[in-house]
Amino acid sequence: MPEKLPLLHPPPVDLVGYFAGALSPAKELEIEIHFASCERCAEDGRRVRLLHSAFAGWTAKSHGAARRAAVLAKALRDSAETGANEQWRDRLERWVDRWAGQAEGAVRVVLRKSEEGCHVLTEGLNTLLRPGGMWQFALEAGPAGPRRRGPGVATRAVAVPPDGPPARVEVLGTSVVEVAVSGTPEAPGPLVLLVDSNGSRPALVAEMAQSAEGQGFIARFENVPEGQYLVVLEPRAESPT
Ligand SMILES: [Zn+2]
Repeated sequence: MPEKLPLLHPPPVDLVGYFAGALSPAKELEIEIHFASCERCAEDGRRVRLLHSAFAGWTAKSHGAARRAAVLAKALRDSAETGANEQWRDRLERWVDRWAGQAEGAVRVVLRKSEEGCHVLTEGLNTLLRPGGMWQFALEAGPAGPRRRGPGVATRAVAVPPDGPPARVEVLGTSVVEVAVSGTPEAPGPLVLLVDSNGSRPALVAEMAQSAEGQGFIARFENVPEGQYLVVLEPRAESPT
């Protein structure tokens, strides 16, 4: 298949800006799309990310992180007030009150179709975690990271925590997002929110159900429109320690 995207590799300053959350949403998306088609920059990105994590505390107040925290806090409040989520109102309100909108795990998901096929990208958002948050997601290492496939071929992207209890956020094709966790056997399963990053659609809320194997919980969102989302998991602890 002919390569249609010109290989304009982003300059190092943009890679650094990307992981510091200092770029505009449009620029951020441009870089993620480039990562999906350029293994060289994806590898550079992984190196910058390692360096960046050493300074994570320092950059936590960068505007990208602050903007996402605000989007999440608003989505939680709105979801608690929506009649459709009546059954989970208490839990959503507790999530807002006790955790100030922080999550047990958070992953950014981009669903986007293009002429070349479909792009599906995910990245862990550890700045949204509660202190002690269980699931620090990262893109699955190696060639299973961000990637692009031809038309008609389902794209699959997976984020898993390299340490800590098993979990995964998986994107199947361009419209299905599946979240699975284990290591938290007590029912009920955590709530999971699929939050539109731009706030233009109400968040989808689901309570994760016991998986068929009975070793954890699973939730699946289908027919998800193209867009950028935060996948966030309900805190499992009662209150901050
Ligand atoms: Zn490149």
